[in-house]
Amino acid sequence: MAHPVINEEECIGCGICVDACAQSVLEVVDGICEAVNEDDCIGCSECMDECPMGAIEVVED
Ligand code: SF4
Ligand code: SF4
Repeated sequence: MAHPVINEEECIGCGICVDACAQSVLEVVDGICEAVNEDDCIGCSECMDECPMGAIEVVED
């Protein structure tokens, strides 16, 4: 199953990935992106493609 891995050191909390994810997997919590709904990830990589900081990697388990 695919899921996003967020590099908290690089994330600036812009929320672009939140808007890019059609599955509502991501949320910005206290200024940092968090995968709050990981089970719904379909591995589309939109979040990874849209993040301006390169802070997301979508990985397959
Ligand atoms: S890979 Fe797609 S479904 Fe998964 S968190 Fe990123 S945008 Fe959402
Ligand atoms: S798009 Fe990137 S920098 Fe912006 S909130 Fe998401 S992970 Fe953080």
